[in-house]
Amino acid sequence: MSWQTVRTLFDKGWWVIHHPFERQDPRYWRVQLMQSLLLILQVYSGAFVLLNLTLFGYFDMAIANLCVFAAILAIQVDLRKNLNLDRSAIALTGTIVVFLGIYLAIAQGRNYSFIWLSLVPTISFFLLGIRRGLYVSVLFLTASIVFIVVFSPVWPSYELNIPSYFNIALSLFALLTISRHYEKSRTEAFAFLAKRNQELEILAVTDPLTQLFNRSHLDAMLEIELQRAKRDNADLSVLIIDADQFKMLNDSYGHLVGDEVLVELSSLLQSCTRATDVLGRWGGEEFLIIAPKTDEDGAVELAEKIRVAVGRHRFTDEDLHLTLSIGSATLSPTDTQISIIQRADDGLYQAKHDGRNCTRLGKSTA
Ligand code: GH3
Ligand code: MG
Ligand code: MG
Repeated sequence: MSWQTVRTLFDKGWWVIHHPFERQDPRYWRVQLMQSLLLILQVYSGAFVLLNLTLFGYFDMAIANLCVFAAILAIQVDLRKNLNLDRSAIALTGTIVVFLGIYLAIAQGRNYSFIWLSLVPTISFFLLGIRRGLYVSVLFLTASIVFIVVFSPVWPSYELNIPSYFNIALSLFALLTISRHYEKSRTEAFAFLAKRNQELEILAVTDPLTQLFNRSHLDAMLEIELQRAKRDNADLSVLIIDADQFKMLNDSYGHLVGDEVLVELSSLLQSCTRATDVLGRWGGEEFLIIAPKTDEDGAVELAEKIRVAVGRHRFTDEDLHLTLSIGSATLSPTDTQISIIQRADDGLYQAKHDGRNCTRLGKSTA
């Protein structure tokens, strides 16, 4: 029988609390923990009613265990029916704490009973939250210590015996289950946040239509590449690419076809650029390429390669033609981010002026 089969069978039991919460929702883990605790306590109290009656002969403990069994059953039914997490969490913590108090009082130090105290902080923090968990833990543990200090002088001393081994093993098992549960919920929450962060980071720099970098990321990258090129005394070129007569294309074929053309154009541009080039959508039907280590000739060569490739391409199912006008500028020592863009834009203006479907250089004033 595989682990998966065991899990599937386990997920069908009466103890399963059905709920609509997603794994990334903290309520999911709260319900899961309550489900596990309810099951553990049910099995534990049920078993100890029988063991105390038959094997150990602790009748008072058997009655206490029976009360716990009944309380746990009621909480389980209520939680399953109403899914009121707060109410069930308070009832469950209350049951555990009251039972532990009674148990400690009856046991009088017998059977390694104090070991169960170690579960109180973990359970109450997880079920009640940090503030209420802290109140319950501090109050209960302080009361327990005072109780032990006051009453223990009159208690008889005991040897470790079979019930002690049960207590040690079961409490450690419960601690293990809760700790694993806690760590699992923490790890999943972190993994979810990391993934969400990564998605947000990508979204923040991406143009939704073309999936290329957006304008603000292009701005940031241009500043970085500009500083790098100046520091390394390296070439850097910028191309502004504008689709010719795009308004006409939209008017003739509709905006949706226009969008489709822009998406197709983006892949084409991507296939013409190097991995080190930064390509993005500058706005509307305009694109920008930041080409590091590329001089004036290299930039013109890249622009022409793109222009020719796009000119030859047939877009969409409609077999559309599209031409590009491209303005190019190569970094000069006095250039700023604004001035290099301005010069590329001058080149683009010139290309439009010269009849479109061509590349022009924005001349440096230096
Ligand atoms: P030019 O050759 O002078 O560049 O002419 P043009 O029509 O391309 O330029 P203009 O600036 O007059 O118009 C740009 C057009 O691009 C108008 C606008 O509707 C279209 N456009 C901008 N963004 C989008 C978009 O996201 N999708 C679509 N379908 N069209 C867009
Ligand atoms: Mg334009
Ligand atoms: Mg245009």
